[in-house]
Amino acid sequence: MKQEIAQLGASVLRRKAEKITDFNAPALMQLIEDMLCTLDSSDGVGLAAPQISQSFCVLVIASKPTTRYPDAPEMKPIVMINPVFKALSKRQGKDWEGCLSIPSIRALVSRYQNISVDYHNVNGNMQQLELDGFVARVFQHEYDHLQGLVYLDCVEDNKDIISETEFFKLIAA
Ligand SMILES: [Zn+2]
Repeated sequence: MKQEIAQLGASVLRRKAEKITDFNAPALMQLIEDMLCTLDSSDGVGLAAPQISQSFCVLVIASKPTTRYPDAPEMKPIVMINPVFKALSKRQGKDWEGCLSIPSIRALVSRYQNISVDYHNVNGNMQQLELDGFVARVFQHEYDHLQGLVYLDCVEDNKDIISETEFFKLIAA
């Protein structure tokens, strides 16, 4: 079922999320279903469980072109449980991010361009996946939510924070 999205200021967004230990728990299946449904009915490209007020290490990345991210690549949603990642190169890139928990704001954030992610899938099986560019960015944004961080914490200069109205003017230019 579609859930309400926790907004900046909610304490759940500032807690370190708990690792999943029981991959067969009905509550986990319900959480995943709720996350997929909530993300699908938003124009976001990723969601972390704390954003629907569930402090667990589960995230979904689901890049698709939307009005918020017109250039995003199309991909099937990937559910990642207890994800960890490492950078495959030191190379970082700065680009605009937004967050369903922080409406009407965009900011420039530096992220690793190439990463390798280890996670459990919905069946509890270990998976490894290499991500780059936009999708690697989405992952690192969602991963931060599991650490109790939001993307504004990664902004190097407050001048890199702008309103969504100005952002749309910028990308239309
Ligand atoms: Zn977010």
